[in-house]
Amino acid sequence: MVKINVSQQLKESIGSTRNYVVNEMIDITGDESLIQGEVGLMRTDRSILAKGRLYTELELTCSRCLSLFSCPLTINIEEEYFPTTDIVTGTSLPLPDEPGSFTIDEHNILDLTEAIGQYALMAIPMKPLCGEDCAGLCPTCGSNLNQTPCNCPPKPVDPRWSRLSKLALADNQVSVTEQKGTK
Ligand SMILES: [Zn+2]
Ligand SMILES: [Zn+2]
Repeated sequence: MVKINVSQQLKESIGSTRNYVVNEMIDITGDESLIQGEVGLMRTDRSILAKGRLYTELELTCSRCLSLFSCPLTINIEEEYFPTTDIVTGTSLPLPDEPGSFTIDEHNILDLTEAIGQYALMAIPMKPLCGEDCAGLCPTCGSNLNQTPCNCPPKPVDPRWSRLSKLALADNQVSVTEQKGTK
């Protein structure tokens, strides 16, 4: 669960911990993604500290070949949640000094949804790759070289390399004639 009633834990002594299993669909990038893992909540002197490791897979666009792929992500969360209501007296508490802090609502519900979303976005790589060895797109015809090798001539290369590419071509011709010979 990601919406946890912490009214009991707020009454417990500092240091008390509880663990919760997370197995929830959460909207991260516009689509719902299954988030799974475990979160531990610890009572501190002023808050409840949520700490957990979660896993998900997001549909991302490969930065090299532009195809959609499923990218596994590990989301490590560590956030403090401040109560807004005094658990004993029921009176409102001042909001925490730190701007952007997470709060526990007046019904003592600690909602992890937003934190999970924020941490998941931070876990997304800057340049996602569908695979370490993604071949990318052909600069000439634009075909995805992972799926369809094209017949485009190699891009004009630095003249200093032309000797080398001629050598490579000669090698290819040799191997072709060899294959013919063995048939
Ligand atoms: Zn790719
Ligand atoms: Zn091509």
